Amino acid sequence: MTVVGAGAAGLFCALVAAHEGARVALVSSSPLPASASYWAQGGIAAALAAGDSPDRHAEDTMAAGRGAARASAVHMLCEESPARVRELEELGVRFDADRHGSLALGLEGGHSARRIVHAGGAATGRRITRDLSALAAAHPEIDVYERSTATALLVNDGRCTGVSIRIPGAQAAIASGGTVLATGGAAALWQRSTNPPGSVGVGLALAHAAGADLADLEFAQFHPTALVSEGPRDGFLITEAVRGEGATLRNASGRRFVDELAPRDEVALAIEAELRTGGAGAVALDMSGVNMTRFPNIAEVLGEVGIDPARDTVPVAPAAHYTMGGVATDLDGRASVSGLLAVGECACTGLHGANRLASNSLAECFVLGRRAALAAGEEEPPPAPSTADATPLPAPPRPETRSALWRHAGLRRGAEGLRELTGDPYPLARLIAASCLAREESRGAHQRVDFPHTNPALDGRHTVVDASGAVRLEEWS
Ligand SMILES: Cc1cc2nc3c(=O)[nH]c(=O)nc-3n(C[C@H](O)[C@H](O)[C@H](O)COP(=O)(O)OP(=O)(O)OC[C@H]3O[C@@H](n4cnc5c(N)ncnc54)[C@H](O)[C@@H]3O)c2cc1C
Repeated sequence: MTVVGAGAAGLFCALVAAHEGARVALVSSSPLPASASYWAQGGIAAALAAGDSPDRHAEDTMAAGRGAARASAVHMLCEESPARVRELEELGVRFDADRHGSLALGLEGGHSARRIVHAGGAATGRRITRDLSALAAAHPEIDVYERSTATALLVNDGRCTGVSIRIPGAQAAIASGGTVLATGGAAALWQRSTNPPGSVGVGLALAHAAGADLADLEFAQFHPTALVSEGPRDGFLITEAVRGEGATLRNASGRRFVDELAPRDEVALAIEAELRTGGAGAVALDMSGVNMTRFPNIAEVLGEVGIDPARDTVPVAPAAHYTMGGVATDLDGRASVSGLLAVGECACTGLHGANRLASNSLAECFVLGRRAALAAGEEEPPPAPSTADATPLPAPPRPETRSALWRHAGLRRGAEGLRELTGDPYPLARLIAASCLAREESRGAHQRVDFPHTNPALDGRHTVVDASGAVRLEEWS
Protein backbone atom coordinates (compact mmCIF):
# COMPACT_ATOMS: atom_id res chain seq x y z
CA MET A 1 0.00 0.00 0.00
CA THR A 2 1.01 3.63 -0.38
CA VAL A 3 0.66 6.35 2.23
CA VAL A 4 1.01 9.94 1.03
CA GLY A 5 2.05 12.28 3.86
CA ALA A 6 4.26 11.82 6.88
CA GLY A 7 2.51 13.79 9.60
CA ALA A 8 0.98 12.05 12.62
CA ALA A 9 -1.72 10.32 10.54
CA GLY A 10 0.53 9.06 7.74
CA LEU A 11 3.35 7.90 10.01
CA PHE A 12 1.03 6.03 12.34
CA CYS A 13 -0.96 4.50 9.46
CA ALA A 14 2.28 3.31 7.79
CA LEU A 15 3.61 1.81 11.03
CA VAL A 16 0.38 -0.07 11.80
CA ALA A 17 0.17 -1.41 8.22
CA ALA A 18 3.80 -2.53 8.27
CA HIS A 19 3.27 -4.16 11.67
CA GLU A 20 0.35 -6.08 10.13
CA GLY A 21 2.67 -7.38 7.41
CA ALA A 22 2.01 -4.96 4.54
CA ARG A 23 4.77 -3.57 2.35
CA VAL A 24 4.36 0.23 2.57
CA ALA A 25 5.57 3.10 0.39
CA LEU A 26 5.56 6.30 2.48
CA VAL A 27 5.74 9.45 0.35
CA SER A 28 6.42 12.85 1.89
CA SER A 29 7.07 16.14 0.17
CA SER A 30 8.18 18.25 3.09
CA PRO A 31 10.89 17.92 5.68
CA LEU A 32 9.56 16.81 9.05
CA PRO A 33 9.26 20.23 10.78
CA ALA A 34 6.96 21.43 8.00
CA SER A 35 3.99 19.23 8.96
CA ALA A 36 1.16 20.60 11.10
CA SER A 37 1.66 17.56 13.33
CA TYR A 38 5.17 18.70 14.20
CA TRP A 39 3.72 22.06 15.29
CA ALA A 40 0.95 20.61 17.51
CA GLN A 41 1.18 22.03 20.99
CA GLY A 42 -1.71 21.04 23.25
CA GLY A 43 -1.95 17.28 22.94
CA ILE A 44 -4.23 14.30 22.39
CA ALA A 45 -7.73 14.13 23.86
CA ALA A 46 -8.45 10.79 25.59
CA ALA A 47 -10.78 9.92 28.47
CA LEU A 48 -8.18 8.44 30.79
CA ALA A 49 -8.84 10.23 34.10
CA ALA A 50 -10.67 8.54 36.94
CA GLY A 51 -14.22 9.86 36.75
CA ASP A 52 -13.99 10.61 33.04
CA SER A 53 -15.44 8.34 30.35
CA PRO A 54 -15.65 7.99 26.55
CA ASP A 55 -19.35 8.90 26.80
CA ARG A 56 -18.53 12.16 28.53
CA HIS A 57 -15.83 12.92 25.93
CA ALA A 58 -18.42 12.14 23.24
CA GLU A 59 -20.96 14.52 24.82
CA ASP A 60 -18.39 17.34 24.77
CA THR A 61 -17.45 16.55 21.15
CA MET A 62 -21.09 16.52 20.02
CA ALA A 63 -21.76 19.81 21.85
CA ALA A 64 -18.71 21.49 20.24
CA GLY A 65 -19.80 20.19 16.80
CA ARG A 66 -22.97 22.34 17.03
CA GLY A 67 -25.45 19.73 15.84
CA ALA A 68 -23.45 18.85 12.72
CA ALA A 69 -21.17 16.07 14.02
CA ARG A 70 -21.66 12.45 12.91
CA ALA A 71 -22.52 10.57 16.11
CA SER A 72 -21.03 7.23 15.00
CA ALA A 73 -17.67 8.89 14.25
CA VAL A 74 -17.70 10.73 17.57
CA HIS A 75 -18.33 7.56 19.60
CA MET A 76 -15.69 5.65 17.67
CA LEU A 77 -13.07 8.33 18.38
CA CYS A 78 -13.86 8.70 22.06
CA GLU A 79 -13.94 4.94 22.69
CA GLU A 80 -10.71 4.16 20.81
CA SER A 81 -8.54 7.17 21.69
CA PRO A 82 -7.36 5.87 25.12
CA ALA A 83 -6.08 2.63 23.54
CA ARG A 84 -4.19 4.62 20.88
CA VAL A 85 -2.45 6.66 23.61
CA ARG A 86 -1.34 3.41 25.27
CA GLU A 87 -0.19 2.10 21.88
CA LEU A 88 1.92 5.23 21.35
CA GLU A 89 3.49 4.67 24.77
CA GLU A 90 4.29 1.09 23.76
CA LEU A 91 5.94 2.47 20.62
CA GLY A 92 8.19 4.54 22.90
CA VAL A 93 6.50 7.97 23.00
CA ARG A 94 7.01 9.42 26.48
CA PHE A 95 4.15 11.63 27.60
CA ASP A 96 4.42 14.06 30.51
CA ALA A 97 3.68 12.51 33.89
CA ASP A 98 2.49 13.98 37.16
CA ARG A 99 4.48 13.61 40.37
CA HIS A 100 2.91 10.18 41.00
CA GLY A 101 4.10 8.91 37.64
CA SER A 102 0.59 8.87 36.08
CA LEU A 103 -0.13 10.66 32.80
CA ALA A 104 -0.45 14.42 33.40
CA LEU A 105 -3.79 15.47 31.88
CA GLY A 106 -4.40 19.04 30.71
CA LEU A 107 -7.66 20.96 30.38
CA GLU A 108 -8.70 22.73 27.16
CA GLY A 109 -11.72 24.69 25.90
CA GLY A 110 -14.96 22.72 25.54
CA HIS A 111 -13.73 19.75 27.60
CA SER A 112 -15.61 19.05 30.83
CA ALA A 113 -12.69 17.07 32.28
CA ARG A 114 -8.89 17.04 32.26
CA ARG A 115 -8.14 14.72 29.33
CA ILE A 116 -5.32 16.22 27.22
CA VAL A 117 -2.25 13.98 27.10
CA HIS A 118 0.87 16.00 26.24
CA ALA A 119 4.62 15.65 25.82
CA GLY A 120 7.46 18.09 26.46
CA GLY A 121 4.97 20.66 27.80
CA ALA A 122 3.61 22.18 24.60
CA ALA A 123 5.93 20.22 22.28
CA THR A 124 3.58 17.25 21.86
CA GLY A 125 3.61 17.15 18.06
CA ARG A 126 7.37 17.54 17.84
CA ARG A 127 7.96 14.62 20.22
CA ILE A 128 5.45 12.29 18.56
CA THR A 129 6.51 12.95 14.95
CA ARG A 130 10.19 12.67 15.91
CA ASP A 131 9.63 9.27 17.54
CA LEU A 132 7.30 7.88 14.86
CA SER A 133 9.45 9.03 11.97
CA ALA A 134 12.52 7.36 13.49
CA LEU A 135 10.52 4.12 13.74
CA ALA A 136 9.25 4.43 10.15
CA ALA A 137 12.72 5.18 8.76
CA ALA A 138 14.11 2.06 10.47
CA HIS A 139 11.23 -0.28 9.58
CA PRO A 140 12.24 -2.95 7.05
CA GLU A 141 8.74 -3.06 5.48
CA ILE A 142 8.51 0.71 4.90
CA ASP A 143 10.12 2.37 1.85
CA VAL A 144 10.37 6.07 2.57
CA TYR A 145 10.25 8.49 -0.40
CA GLU A 146 11.43 11.74 1.12
CA ARG A 147 11.28 15.07 -0.72
CA SER A 148 8.84 13.37 -3.07
CA THR A 149 5.51 14.90 -4.01
CA ALA A 150 2.37 13.07 -5.10
CA THR A 151 1.30 14.93 -8.23
CA ALA A 152 -1.71 12.80 -9.23
CA LEU A 153 -3.68 9.74 -8.28
CA LEU A 154 -3.80 6.96 -10.86
CA VAL A 155 -7.31 5.82 -11.71
CA ASN A 156 -8.28 2.83 -13.83
CA ASP A 157 -11.93 2.02 -14.46
CA GLY A 158 -13.05 4.21 -11.56
CA ARG A 159 -10.63 2.58 -9.16
CA CYS A 160 -7.58 4.25 -7.60
CA THR A 161 -4.57 2.11 -8.47
CA GLY A 162 -1.72 4.16 -7.09
CA VAL A 163 -0.02 7.48 -7.25
CA SER A 164 2.25 9.40 -9.54
CA ILE A 165 5.11 11.07 -7.68
CA ARG A 166 7.78 13.63 -8.45
CA ILE A 167 11.05 12.57 -6.85
CA PRO A 168 14.14 14.78 -7.04
CA GLY A 169 15.07 14.79 -10.72
CA ALA A 170 12.43 12.31 -11.94
CA GLN A 171 8.77 11.27 -12.14
CA ALA A 172 7.65 7.80 -11.04
CA ALA A 173 4.46 5.80 -10.50
CA ILE A 174 3.75 3.61 -7.48
CA ALA A 175 1.04 0.97 -7.95
CA SER A 176 -0.88 -0.04 -4.85
CA GLY A 177 -4.01 -1.87 -3.78
CA GLY A 178 -4.82 0.76 -1.17
CA THR A 179 -3.66 4.38 -1.50
CA VAL A 180 -4.02 6.43 1.67
CA LEU A 181 -3.97 10.22 1.55
CA ALA A 182 -2.61 11.74 4.78
CA THR A 183 -1.66 15.09 3.31
CA GLY A 184 -2.98 17.39 6.07
CA GLY A 185 -5.46 20.24 6.03
CA ALA A 186 -5.96 23.47 4.11
CA ALA A 187 -5.90 26.23 6.75
CA ALA A 188 -2.84 27.88 5.17
CA LEU A 189 -5.11 28.82 2.26
CA TRP A 190 -6.32 31.68 4.47
CA GLN A 191 -4.05 34.72 4.70
CA ARG A 192 -3.76 34.69 8.49
CA SER A 193 -3.08 31.12 9.58
CA THR A 194 -1.38 29.12 12.32
CA ASN A 195 -0.46 26.39 9.81
CA PRO A 196 2.76 25.61 7.93
CA PRO A 197 2.69 27.05 4.37
CA GLY A 198 2.22 23.59 2.80
CA SER A 199 -1.22 23.06 4.39
CA VAL A 200 -3.14 24.14 1.29
CA GLY A 201 -5.34 21.09 0.73
CA VAL A 202 -3.26 19.27 -1.89
CA GLY A 203 -4.80 15.93 -0.92
CA LEU A 204 -8.29 17.34 -1.45
CA ALA A 205 -7.30 18.52 -4.92
CA LEU A 206 -5.81 15.09 -5.76
CA ALA A 207 -8.91 13.26 -4.51
CA HIS A 208 -11.34 15.61 -6.26
CA ALA A 209 -9.46 15.23 -9.55
CA ALA A 210 -9.72 11.43 -9.12
CA GLY A 211 -13.50 11.70 -8.74
CA ALA A 212 -13.85 11.46 -4.94
CA ASP A 213 -16.49 13.34 -2.94
CA LEU A 214 -15.37 16.11 -0.56
CA ALA A 215 -17.44 17.12 2.49
CA ASP A 216 -18.00 20.04 4.88
CA LEU A 217 -15.63 22.47 3.15
CA GLU A 218 -17.49 25.44 4.66
CA PHE A 219 -16.36 24.49 8.17
CA ALA A 220 -12.92 26.06 8.75
CA GLN A 221 -11.92 26.62 12.35
CA PHE A 222 -10.34 29.90 13.43
CA HIS A 223 -8.16 29.57 16.51
CA PRO A 224 -8.96 32.41 18.91
CA THR A 225 -5.46 33.14 20.17
CA ALA A 226 -2.77 33.52 17.53
CA LEU A 227 -0.02 36.01 18.36
CA VAL A 228 -0.24 39.46 16.76
CA SER A 229 3.25 40.63 15.89
CA GLU A 230 4.94 42.71 13.19
CA GLY A 231 7.42 40.05 12.08
CA PRO A 232 7.49 36.39 11.03
CA ARG A 233 6.04 35.23 14.35
CA ASP A 234 2.67 36.78 13.52
CA GLY A 235 0.08 33.99 13.69
CA PHE A 236 2.11 31.85 16.10
CA LEU A 237 -0.37 29.75 18.03
CA ILE A 238 -0.77 30.21 21.76
CA THR A 239 -2.40 26.96 22.78
CA GLU A 240 -5.60 27.11 24.77
CA ALA A 241 -3.87 24.87 27.30
CA VAL A 242 -2.54 28.18 28.72
CA ARG A 243 -6.15 29.22 29.25
CA GLY A 244 -6.70 25.84 30.87
CA GLU A 245 -3.91 26.81 33.28
CA GLY A 246 -5.53 30.18 34.12
CA ALA A 247 -4.65 32.70 31.35
CA THR A 248 -7.46 35.23 30.79
CA LEU A 249 -8.57 37.29 27.79
CA ARG A 250 -8.82 41.08 28.19
CA ASN A 251 -10.40 43.70 25.93
CA ALA A 252 -9.25 47.27 25.24
CA SER A 253 -10.63 48.33 28.65
CA GLY A 254 -8.76 45.51 30.38
CA ARG A 255 -12.01 43.64 31.12
CA ARG A 256 -12.73 39.92 30.59
CA PHE A 257 -15.45 39.44 27.96
CA VAL A 258 -15.84 35.70 27.30
CA ASP A 259 -15.54 32.35 29.08
CA GLU A 260 -11.96 31.50 28.11
CA LEU A 261 -12.74 27.78 28.16
CA ALA A 262 -15.78 27.89 25.89
CA PRO A 263 -15.42 26.04 22.55
CA ARG A 264 -13.25 27.73 19.93
CA ASP A 265 -15.95 29.10 17.65
CA GLU A 266 -17.51 31.01 20.56
CA VAL A 267 -14.22 32.46 21.83
CA ALA A 268 -13.01 33.38 18.31
CA LEU A 269 -16.27 35.20 17.50
CA ALA A 270 -16.18 37.09 20.81
CA ILE A 271 -12.62 38.23 20.05
CA GLU A 272 -13.56 39.20 16.49
CA ALA A 273 -16.40 41.37 17.87
CA GLU A 274 -14.00 43.13 20.28
CA LEU A 275 -11.48 43.74 17.48
CA ARG A 276 -14.21 45.12 15.20
CA THR A 277 -15.18 47.74 17.78
CA GLY A 278 -11.83 48.24 19.54
CA GLY A 279 -9.45 48.01 16.55
CA ALA A 280 -6.28 45.97 16.03
CA GLY A 281 -4.50 45.16 19.28
CA ALA A 282 -7.70 45.49 21.33
CA VAL A 283 -7.53 41.94 22.71
CA ALA A 284 -4.74 40.47 24.79
CA LEU A 285 -4.02 37.36 26.82
CA ASP A 286 -3.01 37.87 30.41
CA MET A 287 -0.70 34.95 31.16
CA SER A 288 0.87 36.44 34.29
CA GLY A 289 -0.59 33.70 36.50
CA VAL A 290 0.59 30.81 34.29
CA ASN A 291 3.63 28.73 35.12
CA MET A 292 5.51 29.19 31.84
CA THR A 293 7.99 26.41 32.56
CA ARG A 294 5.19 24.12 31.29
CA PHE A 295 5.18 25.97 27.96
CA PRO A 296 8.86 26.48 27.12
CA ASN A 297 8.37 26.85 23.34
CA ILE A 298 5.74 29.58 23.84
CA ALA A 299 7.97 31.38 26.35
CA GLU A 300 10.81 31.20 23.80
CA VAL A 301 8.77 32.74 20.97
CA LEU A 302 7.36 35.48 23.23
CA GLY A 303 10.93 36.22 24.34
CA GLU A 304 11.94 36.52 20.67
CA VAL A 305 9.31 39.22 20.07
CA GLY A 306 10.19 41.06 23.30
CA ILE A 307 7.20 40.01 25.43
CA ASP A 308 7.65 38.93 29.04
CA PRO A 309 4.36 37.15 29.90
CA ALA A 310 4.95 37.62 33.63
CA ARG A 311 4.76 41.38 33.09
CA ASP A 312 3.23 42.11 29.67
CA THR A 313 -0.09 41.08 28.17
CA VAL A 314 0.11 39.25 24.81
CA PRO A 315 -1.81 40.70 21.82
CA VAL A 316 -3.83 38.00 20.07
CA ALA A 317 -6.34 37.65 17.23
CA PRO A 318 -7.99 34.69 15.48
CA ALA A 319 -6.27 32.87 12.61
CA ALA A 320 -7.36 30.01 10.34
CA HIS A 321 -6.28 26.88 12.15
CA TYR A 322 -8.04 23.70 11.10
CA THR A 323 -10.27 22.47 8.29
CA MET A 324 -13.07 20.21 9.53
CA GLY A 325 -13.95 19.40 5.92
CA GLY A 326 -11.98 17.13 3.61
CA VAL A 327 -12.17 13.97 1.54
CA ALA A 328 -15.49 12.34 2.55
CA THR A 329 -14.81 8.94 4.14
CA ASP A 330 -16.46 6.18 6.08
CA LEU A 331 -15.27 5.21 9.56
CA ASP A 332 -12.38 3.17 8.12
CA GLY A 333 -11.08 6.03 6.00
CA ARG A 334 -12.52 4.75 2.70
CA ALA A 335 -13.27 7.50 0.17
CA SER A 336 -16.02 7.30 -2.46
CA VAL A 337 -13.51 6.07 -5.10
CA SER A 338 -12.54 2.45 -4.48
CA GLY A 339 -8.92 1.81 -3.54
CA LEU A 340 -8.62 5.37 -2.18
CA LEU A 341 -8.57 6.18 1.54
CA ALA A 342 -7.97 9.40 3.46
CA VAL A 343 -7.00 9.96 7.06
CA GLY A 344 -6.07 12.81 9.40
CA GLU A 345 -6.88 16.43 8.65
CA CYS A 346 -7.31 15.88 4.89
CA ALA A 347 -10.26 13.56 5.59
CA CYS A 348 -13.80 14.26 6.72
CA THR A 349 -15.57 11.53 8.66
CA GLY A 350 -18.01 14.09 10.07
CA LEU A 351 -16.39 13.69 13.49
CA HIS A 352 -15.84 17.41 14.10
CA GLY A 353 -19.12 18.72 12.74
CA ALA A 354 -19.13 22.52 12.57
CA ASN A 355 -16.41 23.04 15.17
CA ARG A 356 -13.57 20.72 16.20
CA LEU A 357 -13.11 20.15 19.91
CA ALA A 358 -9.54 20.98 20.98
CA SER A 359 -7.03 18.11 20.73
CA ASN A 360 -9.47 15.77 18.99
CA SER A 361 -7.49 15.99 15.74
CA LEU A 362 -4.33 14.24 16.90
CA ALA A 363 -6.60 11.63 18.48
CA GLU A 364 -8.27 11.28 15.08
CA CYS A 365 -4.88 10.82 13.34
CA PHE A 366 -4.19 7.76 15.50
CA VAL A 367 -7.69 6.27 15.73
CA LEU A 368 -8.40 6.61 11.99
CA GLY A 369 -4.75 5.97 11.10
CA ARG A 370 -5.04 2.46 12.55
CA ARG A 371 -8.45 1.82 10.99
CA ALA A 372 -7.34 3.02 7.53
CA ALA A 373 -4.18 0.88 7.72
CA LEU A 374 -6.29 -2.23 8.31
CA ALA A 375 -8.85 -1.28 5.62
CA ALA A 376 -6.15 -0.50 3.02
CA GLY A 377 -4.56 -3.88 3.70
CA GLU A 378 -7.81 -5.55 2.57
CA GLU A 379 -7.73 -3.94 -0.90
CA GLU A 380 -6.99 -6.22 -3.88
CA PRO A 381 -3.68 -5.67 -5.71
CA PRO A 382 -4.30 -3.30 -8.63
CA PRO A 383 -4.19 -3.99 -12.34
CA ALA A 384 -1.23 -2.21 -13.93
CA PRO A 385 -1.75 1.53 -13.39
CA SER A 386 -1.75 3.90 -16.31
CA THR A 387 -0.09 7.28 -15.90
CA ALA A 388 -2.25 8.49 -18.79
CA ASP A 389 -5.21 8.53 -16.38
CA ALA A 390 -3.50 10.90 -13.97
CA THR A 391 -4.93 14.42 -13.62
CA PRO A 392 -2.16 16.88 -12.73
CA LEU A 393 -2.32 19.13 -9.68
CA PRO A 394 -3.36 22.75 -10.00
CA ALA A 395 -0.63 25.41 -9.58
CA PRO A 396 -0.09 26.47 -5.93
CA PRO A 397 -2.44 29.18 -4.61
CA ARG A 398 -1.41 32.80 -5.21
CA PRO A 399 -1.30 35.37 -2.36
CA GLU A 400 -4.45 36.94 -3.88
CA THR A 401 -6.35 33.69 -3.24
CA ARG A 402 -5.24 33.65 0.40
CA SER A 403 -6.36 37.22 0.96
CA ALA A 404 -9.67 36.58 -0.87
CA LEU A 405 -10.41 33.59 1.39
CA TRP A 406 -9.62 35.67 4.46
CA ARG A 407 -11.92 38.48 3.30
CA HIS A 408 -14.78 36.42 1.88
CA ALA A 409 -14.72 33.13 3.80
CA GLY A 410 -13.34 34.31 7.14
CA LEU A 411 -15.00 34.36 10.55
CA ARG A 412 -18.04 36.11 9.06
CA ARG A 413 -19.07 35.65 5.45
CA GLY A 414 -21.87 36.79 3.16
CA ALA A 415 -23.27 35.82 -0.24
CA GLU A 416 -21.76 38.75 -2.14
CA GLY A 417 -18.13 38.00 -1.19
CA LEU A 418 -18.64 34.26 -1.51
CA ARG A 419 -19.97 34.67 -5.04
CA GLU A 420 -16.85 36.65 -5.91
CA LEU A 421 -14.75 33.79 -4.47
CA THR A 422 -16.47 31.28 -6.76
CA GLY A 423 -14.48 32.92 -9.59
CA ASP A 424 -11.07 32.46 -7.91
CA PRO A 425 -8.42 30.75 -10.06
CA TYR A 426 -7.59 28.21 -7.30
CA PRO A 427 -10.08 25.31 -7.68
CA LEU A 428 -10.29 24.47 -3.97
CA ALA A 429 -11.12 28.10 -3.12
CA ARG A 430 -14.04 27.88 -5.56
CA LEU A 431 -15.30 24.66 -3.95
CA ILE A 432 -15.04 26.20 -0.46
CA ALA A 433 -17.06 29.20 -1.65
CA ALA A 434 -19.71 26.94 -3.21
CA SER A 435 -20.02 24.93 0.03
CA CYS A 436 -20.33 28.12 2.11
CA LEU A 437 -23.05 29.40 -0.23
CA ALA A 438 -24.97 26.12 -0.03
CA ARG A 439 -25.23 26.32 3.78
CA GLU A 440 -27.71 29.15 4.22
CA GLU A 441 -27.44 29.43 7.99
CA SER A 442 -24.89 30.22 10.73
CA ARG A 443 -23.47 27.28 12.63
CA GLY A 444 -20.21 26.89 14.57
CA ALA A 445 -17.27 27.95 12.44
CA HIS A 446 -19.57 29.01 9.56
CA GLN A 447 -21.14 32.39 10.34
CA ARG A 448 -23.20 34.01 7.55
CA VAL A 449 -23.97 37.72 8.00
CA ASP A 450 -26.97 37.24 5.68
CA PHE A 451 -28.25 34.12 7.53
CA PRO A 452 -27.34 34.93 11.16
CA HIS A 453 -29.30 32.09 12.78
CA THR A 454 -28.92 28.32 12.94
CA ASN A 455 -31.58 26.51 10.91
CA PRO A 456 -32.73 23.46 12.95
CA ALA A 457 -33.85 21.81 9.69
CA LEU A 458 -30.13 21.50 8.80
CA ASP A 459 -29.17 19.70 12.05
CA GLY A 460 -27.16 16.58 11.23
CA ARG A 461 -26.79 17.53 7.55
CA HIS A 462 -23.45 17.96 5.81
CA THR A 463 -22.42 19.36 2.45
CA VAL A 464 -20.97 17.06 -0.19
CA VAL A 465 -19.10 18.29 -3.26
CA ASP A 466 -19.08 15.73 -6.06
CA ALA A 467 -16.55 15.35 -8.87
CA SER A 468 -18.44 17.86 -11.06
CA GLY A 469 -18.21 20.51 -8.32
CA ALA A 470 -21.95 20.38 -7.54
CA VAL A 471 -22.81 20.74 -3.83
CA ARG A 472 -25.63 18.87 -2.09
CA LEU A 473 -26.74 18.75 1.55
CA GLU A 474 -27.39 15.31 2.99
CA GLU A 475 -27.72 13.40 6.28
CA TRP A 476 -24.79 11.50 7.78
CA SER A 477 -25.55 7.79 7.75
C1 LIG B 1 0.22 25.23 15.49
C2 LIG B 1 -0.72 24.07 15.57
C3 LIG B 1 -1.00 23.48 16.79
C4 LIG B 1 -1.87 22.38 16.87
N1 LIG B 1 -2.09 21.79 18.09
C5 LIG B 1 -2.87 20.67 18.14
C6 LIG B 1 -3.04 19.96 19.35
O1 LIG B 1 -2.47 20.30 20.37
N2 LIG B 1 -3.85 18.88 19.36
C7 LIG B 1 -4.49 18.44 18.25
O2 LIG B 1 -5.23 17.45 18.32
N3 LIG B 1 -4.33 19.09 17.08
C8 LIG B 1 -3.53 20.19 17.00
N4 LIG B 1 -3.37 20.83 15.80
C9 LIG B 1 -3.96 20.23 14.60
C10 LIG B 1 -3.15 18.99 14.25
O3 LIG B 1 -1.80 19.24 14.46
C11 LIG B 1 -3.38 18.57 12.82
O4 LIG B 1 -4.75 18.47 12.54
C12 LIG B 1 -2.76 17.21 12.58
O5 LIG B 1 -1.43 17.20 13.03
C13 LIG B 1 -2.81 16.89 11.09
O6 LIG B 1 -2.02 15.75 10.90
P1 LIG B 1 -1.96 15.07 9.48
O7 LIG B 1 -1.04 13.91 9.63
O8 LIG B 1 -3.31 14.85 8.98
O9 LIG B 1 -1.29 16.18 8.52
P2 LIG B 1 0.10 16.97 8.61
O10 LIG B 1 0.73 16.84 9.94
O11 LIG B 1 -0.14 18.34 8.09
O12 LIG B 1 1.01 16.19 7.59
C14 LIG B 1 0.78 16.25 6.20
C15 LIG B 1 1.92 15.56 5.48
O13 LIG B 1 1.57 15.41 4.12
C16 LIG B 1 2.67 15.78 3.31
N5 LIG B 1 2.15 16.16 1.99
C17 LIG B 1 1.21 17.09 1.68
N6 LIG B 1 0.97 17.10 0.36
C18 LIG B 1 1.76 16.12 -0.17
C19 LIG B 1 1.95 15.62 -1.49
N7 LIG B 1 1.29 16.12 -2.55
N8 LIG B 1 2.87 14.63 -1.67
C20 LIG B 1 3.56 14.11 -0.64
N9 LIG B 1 3.39 14.54 0.65
C21 LIG B 1 2.51 15.53 0.86
C22 LIG B 1 3.34 16.89 4.09
O14 LIG B 1 4.66 17.06 3.65
C23 LIG B 1 3.24 16.30 5.50
O15 LIG B 1 4.27 15.36 5.72
C24 LIG B 1 -2.49 21.91 15.70
C25 LIG B 1 -2.21 22.50 14.46
C26 LIG B 1 -1.32 23.56 14.39
C27 LIG B 1 -1.02 24.17 13.05
